[in-house]
This record gives sequence, C-alpha cells and structure tokens, in this order.
Amino acid sequence: MKIGVLAVQGAFIEHEKKLESLGIDHFEIRQKKDLLQDFDGLILPGGESTVMGKLLKDLDLFDLLHKKIQNGLPVLGTCAGLILLASDISNDISNDICNQGQHKSSVLQFATLPVKVKRNAYGRQLGSFSTIADVKHIGNIPLRFIRAPYIDSVNDDVEILAKVDGNIVAVQYRNQIGLAFHPELTEDLSVHRYFVSLC
Ligand code: GLN
Repeated sequence: MKIGVLAVQGAFIEHEKKLESLGIDHFEIRQKKDLLQDFDGLILPGGESTVMGKLLKDLDLFDLLHKKIQNGLPVLGTCAGLILLASDISNDISNDICNQGQHKSSVLQFATLPVKVKRNAYGRQLGSFSTIADVKHIGNIPLRFIRAPYIDSVNDDVEILAKVDGNIVAVQYRNQIGLAFHPELTEDLSVHRYFVSLC
C-alpha cells in the first residue's frame, strides 16, 4: 500500500507525518514523473485552492490526477483539497458566465465530488477555530478549521459524515472523502486510519 500526497503547496508535511505514524508507505507528488509509479490513495492537503489548482495545471499534473480520481483512486481532500474536489463553489467572485454559458471558476477544480462548497465560509472573525464533533465511520474527534469552507449542498448520493452548527463539514462519495477541517493538525489519527482502510 502506498499513498501519494500532493506536495506543491500547503500543509502536506503534516499529512505525511500522520501516514508515518500509521506506518503507511507514502511519497510526495511534485512533478509529472512522480506519477509514473502505482499508488493506492491520494491526499489533497489544505492550503490555497486557487494556487494549488494553478500549480496542478502548470506542472502538468491536473489531467493525470483527474483521470485517476475519476477511475476510482481513493482520495482525501482537506479544506483547500475539498474545494479542489467539489463540483461547485457557491461564492466564487469570478463565477461569471462565459461565452459558452458555462461557469468559469477562479479555482481550477477536479469537480469529481458532487457538492457545492462555500469558500472562507466563516468570515474573518471566525477565521480559525477548533471544536469536537462526531464524524460518521470515524468517531468523536477534534476538528481544526482554518479559513475553512463548508458545504452548502450535496447530491443525493453523497453521504454526510459530519455537521458543525448545522453546516456540513465532512462528506463521502464513493472513494472520495472531503473535509472542511484539518485532521492533520490534531493529535488524532482516526481520519487517516479510516482513509487508509478505503485504499
Ligand atoms: N481558504 C482557502 C481556500 O479557499 C482554504 C484554507 C485552507 O485550506 N486551510 O482555498
């Protein structure tokens, strides 16, 4: 079993430390040649989704990873990683209609997870906060939010794993897990353990 961690921007090292604690083989995805090897799961970390999307395209990683996710590669997207997976963003300022009548988002998204996310959903005052909540399949765990999105709406076949203050903050759709929070920034290992069990 080997997990690839997208390592172009953001909090990827913390995810690698979690995998190390679980004794799971892993590697960093930084360039196209890193994707020549076989692997069993992908982690998209938190960071800045606009930057990560652009780097994925510039480094020629986007299409290869997109295809792998579409073909069923298990993926864990945390915070900005969730935004990259989401099919829609509800508050994208440049979500204007372009000539072909399609949405043009400022974030380049894989759009494989049929949910609508709201970026920076907690505003400035509540930019960062921690809480504890019950996450389905995983248990009662500490949740750390940093300039986090939440999920506005989901398709019928998306499983809601957790809500905080009535807002959806964790979902699963087939092999894809999307979390608005940062499980890699707490002591708890159970999110990564659950993800590894899907891989
Ligand atoms: N606010 C960031 C974004 O929109 C996400 C923040 C995070 O990953 N901690 O991409």
